[in-house]
Amino acid sequence: MINLLSLGEFNNGLLRFLRASPTPFHATSNLASRLMSAGFQLLREGDAWSLIPGNRYFLTRNDSSIIAFVYGKSDLLSSGIRMLGAHTDSPCLKVKPRAELNRRGYFQLGVEVYGGALLAPWYDRDLSMAGRVSFRDNQGHITSVLIDFERPIATIPSLAIHLDREANNSRSINAQKDIVPLILQLPTEDAALPDFRSILHAELLRQQPKIPVAKVLDYEISFYDTQGPSFVGLEQDFIASARLDNLLSCYVGLESIIQANDEVSSLLICTDHEEVGSTSCCGAKGPLLQQFLERLLPDIEQRVRVIERSMMISADNAHGIHPNFMDKHDENHAPILNRGPVIKVNANQRYATTSETASLFRWFCERAEVPVQTFVARSDMGCGSTIGPIVASEVGVKTIDVGCSTFAMHSIRELAGAKDGWWLYKAGSEFFNCEVPLVALNFS
Ligand SMILES: [Zn+2]
Repeated sequence: MINLLSLGEFNNGLLRFLRASPTPFHATSNLASRLMSAGFQLLREGDAWSLIPGNRYFLTRNDSSIIAFVYGKSDLLSSGIRMLGAHTDSPCLKVKPRAELNRRGYFQLGVEVYGGALLAPWYDRDLSMAGRVSFRDNQGHITSVLIDFERPIATIPSLAIHLDREANNSRSINAQKDIVPLILQLPTEDAALPDFRSILHAELLRQQPKIPVAKVLDYEISFYDTQGPSFVGLEQDFIASARLDNLLSCYVGLESIIQANDEVSSLLICTDHEEVGSTSCCGAKGPLLQQFLERLLPDIEQRVRVIERSMMISADNAHGIHPNFMDKHDENHAPILNRGPVIKVNANQRYATTSETASLFRWFCERAEVPVQTFVARSDMGCGSTIGPIVASEVGVKTIDVGCSTFAMHSIRELAGAKDGWWLYKAGSEFFNCEVPLVALNFS
């Protein structure tokens, strides 16, 4: 018997997760602790494993990707594995390795743009920084810890309209020079620049006085908006937040797999680096999932047979039709916020959806009483992509691409419908709990 979260419980948990997860590292750490408290055991990739049916496991790679696995009691060859995938990363500004800049006594940090960020919304925000810091400790070991400054410590002021009268018509943004965050005013214009590693060192000690840092060696730090996620709208119809793409889907997957029963096998994979092509040791184009499946099923014939009976739901947000820009959608494939998850279809395989996987997803939604919409990009426009086609081509698993419709994708503040995450979670829970084997439904 599934004990589903109510809409309110789901959304409160989602907002907490979004607020506590400014980077993929933090998202992974929060996913891991929630899984741990729900009875999932940590597997270390460097250890030998003996996986036992009826148990629940999880593992992380690079502190930024995670797999959770419910090893069902029924035979994998008959049940297959129900998989749900999402990504932990979002477009942002990342601090460069030698970031320190002094311009007229303003201390700034040079940044690289990570992924396809929408840059204009980064101006005039109260920004903070978070990420991972690697340091040498007092014994000479190298250790990594997560850091989050939490408070507003940086800003990128707009250029006043008086200094650029064309700002509302034609302002473009140069990623090298126009969006450099300002973090401090030095006492004089030629004062010595603080070293960013020393700033990180001091902040680590401030947060954890007993931490044995001898020297900060390197870091992966990005900026984020300190304005937290929030309901928006006269009737609170919407959720505004950074990183809805794709922490919304990570949270849907997390709460769904926690609800999964012990009969059939279920798997959640949330990977880093989707926004930059997924090619990394922990990205969807890397060997993470394949290696997990190889260790679970070392025999190639068994593994291929199980994969043949499995299915992956790749969850990533879709574009809702925007009331101010109605001509950007195909009129018959224009999802509306709060009208249910969206099946994403693309004839050129930018999405992995097939008629078979779409039918199965519709069937799960029907059972869970969840409405479904469909998205196809305009035929005269390009189409985005996601981890679906990558996982499908790497692992050979039948895949569907779905997601919640949103506005302002890749902005520092995106907007989703307040009901859609919950709808997708209901569908995900049905997928993980439906007692009918996928093979009996369609696949053979
Ligand atoms: Zn995405």
